Amino acid sequence: MSSVITYSRNVFLPLTFVCRNSCGYCIFRRPPGDGCVLSPDEVLQILRRGAEAGCTEALFTFGERPEEVDGFLPFLEQFGYSSILEYCHAMAEEALRIGLLPHTNAGVMTADEMKYLSDVNASMGLMLETTADIPAHRNCLGKEPGRRIAMIEDAGRLKIPFTTGILLGIGETPSDRRQSLQVIADLHKKYGHIQEIIIQNFCPKPGTEMSAFPGASLRDMQETVRMAKEILPPDIAIQIPPNLADAEKILPCGVTDLGGISPVTIDYVNPEHPWPAFDELAALTKGYTLQERLCIYPQFIRKGWYHDKIRDRIISLENTIHMRGSSVIPAKPLYEGKAKSVYTSENPDELIVVFRNDMTAFNGVKHDLFTDKGRLNATASEFFMKMLEAEGIKTHYIRMSAPDKMIVRRLEMIPLEVIVRNVAAGSMTKKYPVAEGTVLDWPVVTIDYKDDERGDPMINDDLIQVLHILTGDELTQVKKIALLVNTVLTRFFDECGICLVDFKLEFGKAGGNIFLGDEISMDSMRLWDKETGESFDKDVYRFDKGDVITAYRNVLKRIIPEFSL
Ligand code: ADP
Ligand code: MG
Repeated sequence: MSSVITYSRNVFLPLTFVCRNSCGYCIFRRPPGDGCVLSPDEVLQILRRGAEAGCTEALFTFGERPEEVDGFLPFLEQFGYSSILEYCHAMAEEALRIGLLPHTNAGVMTADEMKYLSDVNASMGLMLETTADIPAHRNCLGKEPGRRIAMIEDAGRLKIPFTTGILLGIGETPSDRRQSLQVIADLHKKYGHIQEIIIQNFCPKPGTEMSAFPGASLRDMQETVRMAKEILPPDIAIQIPPNLADAEKILPCGVTDLGGISPVTIDYVNPEHPWPAFDELAALTKGYTLQERLCIYPQFIRKGWYHDKIRDRIISLENTIHMRGSSVIPAKPLYEGKAKSVYTSENPDELIVVFRNDMTAFNGVKHDLFTDKGRLNATASEFFMKMLEAEGIKTHYIRMSAPDKMIVRRLEMIPLEVIVRNVAAGSMTKKYPVAEGTVLDWPVVTIDYKDDERGDPMINDDLIQVLHILTGDELTQVKKIALLVNTVLTRFFDECGICLVDFKLEFGKAGGNIFLGDEISMDSMRLWDKETGESFDKDVYRFDKGDVITAYRNVLKRIIPEFSL
């Protein structure tokens, strides 16, 4: 096998641009003012977009100790936080909930501060930059090499998987670089916690004190990567940023990693340098095996260097990148629904359906996010689609590409929601004089016209035909399939001690045939415990009956005995 080059898919969250340091090369730093703190809404939006684009890492990088800058605090306090690290902790929790692993680089922190953040971070980082005393760091309390080395050492004592690195071309000499690398190597020999070293070329920015500096040359980068390979223990990854350096020409010197690459956010520290797209990345690493990784490297996962609280997230994301292999999800969805996003794939006849963690009810009026919800519904859908295929029913299911991603046949969707009811519940009991829980004399098929804006009105056979949605024959066929699905599912659920009250199906066409599409999950069925009558489905969420994720997990445990959390 060719040598492996790794990378991580991330989103970049600059929680604040305010910083107590003012380095001669920086354009990230801003004075306190409107927009100097990313609002919780903005953070959530970036996290959600990241999760949808298949990212696994939430990179929290922001100014150092902004509280020391006059006028900063009110901008943070308006969101209800009194320190940037407290805010970071809260947003890292959101990241985990949405499905991303936090990695924080907050500049210099004390051991207590790192400990505080360690239950919600899979890894942390601080660039050493250089051990040399350089003019560019004249106005920077936090850039004193001794303090940075002390923090990296504290991280080692705390067993925090750690990222550090050096900055080339800020006024240091080649022998300073050697010394910086040596310091990092020594710390690692003592604590074993350095997972990667970034060798970053400084890119001069117009309008800064150092705008006339030449920056680091290709040659500097190549030599320093070789030097790093010679000095550092082999278990430390050597990373270069592919948006700043000519990766193709530096890779052969010993690079093993390309760092975090984002399909969603820019590099706020070097905004003029866009990330390569994933397919460009593949071209760049021709001759190597390009492999995705998480922000915590595999050897640290195996050693258990993470807090219990983030264990499940790490395991499920490890599974995700493993199953994803080299397949790449395009950044923009073809269609973004209330609970799923649909992406095109390399194959024009196939789509990728991503089951998101969004939960909505009452036509989107109620909306929340639940960790793992996407995977639970995807698992149920996969299970039932396979079961129905085995009964001769044509479904869109092709295969799973990750626990929450299904590859399906591309269908031209029929705008109908086909509902089968065995027991009266929900909207039926509101519209008609029938009590909830009444067992119907036979399974009833009702059909709604799928259109959120019109409130999904009920439609009848004549309308379906005169509106040219389906021909009479097709309609007969759709109803027949719906009833067959009901027979198969009712029998199965009954054996699991569950009553299938009702469910919704969607159909689509491909190559002149009608296929069952969309999903069959706890979102689309009403399920009651046969003995207790307890709900196991979306009603738990709709009517605040308890913990919806526990309910969904209970369904899966009952229907798939080998299902593991
Ligand atoms: P919505 O808010 O419209 O219900 P969802 O969150 O359920 O959206 O996302 C899935 C969307 O993708 C639905 O509109 C559904 O009709 C559509 N869809 C489901 N399966 C397929 C398929 N095989 N081909 C094309 N579109 C599909
Ligand atoms: Mg839907």
